[in-house]
Amino acid sequence: MTRAYNFSAGPATLPEAVLRQAQAEMLEWHGAGASIVELSHRGPEFLQVAQEAEADLRALMSIPDDYAVLFLQGGATSQQALIPLNFAAPGQKADYVLTGHWGKTAIKQAKPYVDVNVAASSEADGYRDVPERGAWRLSDDAAYVHITANETIHGVEFRDIPDVGDVPLVADFSSSIVSEPLDVSKFGVIYAGAQKNLGPVGVSVAIIRRDLLERAGQPRADIFTYASHASKESMLNTPPTWNWYLAGLVFKWMRAQGGVEAFAASNQRKSALLYDVIDGSGGFYRNEVAAGARSRMNVPFFLKDEALDKPFLAEAKAAGLISLKGHRALGGMRASIYNAMPEAGVEALAGFMRDFQQRNG
Ligand code: PMP
Repeated sequence: MTRAYNFSAGPATLPEAVLRQAQAEMLEWHGAGASIVELSHRGPEFLQVAQEAEADLRALMSIPDDYAVLFLQGGATSQQALIPLNFAAPGQKADYVLTGHWGKTAIKQAKPYVDVNVAASSEADGYRDVPERGAWRLSDDAAYVHITANETIHGVEFRDIPDVGDVPLVADFSSSIVSEPLDVSKFGVIYAGAQKNLGPVGVSVAIIRRDLLERAGQPRADIFTYASHASKESMLNTPPTWNWYLAGLVFKWMRAQGGVEAFAASNQRKSALLYDVIDGSGGFYRNEVAAGARSRMNVPFFLKDEALDKPFLAEAKAAGLISLKGHRALGGMRASIYNAMPEAGVEALAGFMRDFQQRNG
């Protein structure tokens, strides 16, 4: 069996050590007589898994005690709808800064519930930069300000946390959570689907400053209420136990690797290596994102001649480098290089790219 280097944007590559551990524990978890996925979420075995996962994520991200950490179903997209429902009064203003496809999705999900003010947007320029903070037109009375910390498709990342005063900053960190140290206290809400940097698809994490849980929000069912999930430790209904368990294994793996500091350094090296190959290719490869907003997690790039796309993908696959096709919205290529992508994988891709250019340039 050979595992390829998998550059998928999500669901994305998982640490091999985690998959092996899950495999070893699949039939019977720690002497319990059953797999963890066959046991009650309220039993002592899964409660231990759940509590350790939360504790490990809190330690990894240095999450302050006045933040709730929720493990939820529904993906990041559901959080994009739950945020206005929980934190804004009906029709209240909410500010959105639009830097790519997922910011657009966030706006679409919020529109039925709030008066969306697009405070700044890079759409007209094809999402190649983060609008300068000085140019944002924030509302006086917004319920919150929403940003997409890393745009997975466009490869655009906020490199500084914007100052939005006392209005809670809500951030979609689906594709960059735990990729570097982060001052959680600067945010009202951080949310992320797990399937890039945290584990398998099927569980999402929401980190919410507790005072926000007291907001009345809008009429909604209890199951759509963050405060209810928080008061029941994310067990308001049956949680996605398998996904939560696997994410917990990823958290332990990250801690053993040196935590977010270690990943920040390696993510910096990995992304710099790819951007160097692209920028040094004399136009054979092209990334159009402004230097200061280039993502460390998703590196989209184009070949100078579209006719080379197919051979590039086929030869990459033959070389053990898979899932490099860009999102259909953008075309071209995209290398997603989350925490679980080893440096050797990025080195192999960089070598392949140089070689492919030599043969086709
Ligand atoms: N936000 C971002 C930044 C994403 O990358 C994605 C998924 N690629 C989503 C939101 C949507 O996530 P989900 O499919 O889990 O709803």
